[in-house]
Amino acid sequence: MSTIQLHTEEQIWDFLKEVTDPEIPVLNIVEMGIARKVEVNEEGHVLVKITPTYSGCPAMNAIEKLVNEKLEERAVQNFKVKLDFAETWTTDWMTEEAKVKLKDYGIAPPEKTSEDDDFLKTLSSTKVVPCPFCDSFETELVSQFGSTACKSQYFCNDCEQPFEHFKCI
Ligand SMILES: [Zn+2]
Repeated sequence: MSTIQLHTEEQIWDFLKEVTDPEIPVLNIVEMGIARKVEVNEEGHVLVKITPTYSGCPAMNAIEKLVNEKLEERAVQNFKVKLDFAETWTTDWMTEEAKVKLKDYGIAPPEKTSEDDDFLKTLSSTKVVPCPFCDSFETELVSQFGSTACKSQYFCNDCEQPFEHFKCI
């Protein structure tokens, strides 16, 4: 009898949902849209494709490592985790639920879709990000970089609380 246990794609997706974003512990990488693809072939070889949220984001190496550790922990045989740069991650891939959780966590969700990116770049210095705590627009950019390069730091002049904004790109 073989001791090798084959996993279904569904099971692999469930394991991936147990991997949270190191930067945003309330969100898993499936909700974030980071985990893009799971393939299990006839021999039970598992291929997981993940796409970085932000090129050069240091969290990405951490996520790749966490996925590897999770699949090992779950005794998945013959798996491979591939970083997929064929497509560029956009905030459109985040579920609406994920955006709500992000806001509840105190981070202003990325409010624009990717199509607006060029437009946003030209406006980035004057972009208004609503406060995740009180929804006020009386906010100001404190620093382009928050706790990590993927987030910028804002301050709300209404409720006088600092908050972070998850960048679109
Ligand atoms: Zn506020």
